Amino acid sequence: MQHPKQERTLVIIKPDGVQRTLIGEIIKRLERPGLKLVAMKMCVPTEEHVEKHYTLDPEWRRITGEKRIKNAKEKGEKLETEDPLEITAVILEKLKKYMTSGPVIAMVWQGAHSTELVRKIVGGTEPRSSDVGTIRGDFVLDSYTMADTDGRAVRNLIHASGTAKESEAEINHWFKKDEIVDYRLVQEQILYDVNMDGILE
Ligand code: ADP
Ligand code: MG
Repeated sequence: MQHPKQERTLVIIKPDGVQRTLIGEIIKRLERPGLKLVAMKMCVPTEEHVEKHYTLDPEWRRITGEKRIKNAKEKGEKLETEDPLEITAVILEKLKKYMTSGPVIAMVWQGAHSTELVRKIVGGTEPRSSDVGTIRGDFVLDSYTMADTDGRAVRNLIHASGTAKESEAEINHWFKKDEIVDYRLVQEQILYDVNMDGILE
C-alpha cells in the first residue's frame, strides 16, 4: 500500500479563475496546509479533451444529473426533464463551451489525503451554497438557478478530482509521466517524519 503522503490529485483553475486573477490566491490556499505542487501547465483545452475529462468516470453523468434534480426539489424549481442523463447531456455541452473559452491552469498536488483535502478547500459545486472559507464560497456567487436561466455552465473557478481513483485517471488524462516531478520539500520532515529529529543543535 502506498503511504498517504504519496497521494496525488488533479486541480484545474478554470477560465473564470484565470480571468478573475485568482491563480496566486488558489495556489496559496493549496500550499498552506502542506500540499506540494508536483506538476503545472497553462493551456486552452479542446472540447474533446474536456468531454473525455468529465466522462472518465462512467457514473459522472448520472451523479451530476441527480445532484441537479435534488437541488431543484429543495428550491421548488421545475426542470424540463427528470432524467439525470438528459440533464447532464445539456450540462456537458455548456461545460465544453465554458472550459474552452480561455486558458486554464492544470496542476497536480501531492500530500496526505490530498484528494479529500483539496475538495474541502475548494468547497461544494454550487458557489451559492459552498461554505464560507472555501475557494468557491469566498470568491464567487454563481448558482444552478442563474446558470439555467442564462443557459450556461455554473462558474465555480476551479476543478478538483472527487475521489482518489478519479484523481489517478484525471492526472493521466492531463499529464505525461515525465511532466510530474518527484522531489522533496524541506517541510516534509516536519509534516511526515516519524521523529522530529535534526531541529536542535
Ligand atoms: P464538481 O466540479 O464540484 O466536481 P460536477 O462534477 O458535478 O461538480 O460538475 C462538473 C462541473 O459542471 C461543475 O464544476 C460546474 O462547473 C458544472 N455543472 C455541474 N452541474 C451543473 C448544472 N446543473 N448546471 C450547470 N453547470 C453545472
Ligand atoms: Mg466532479
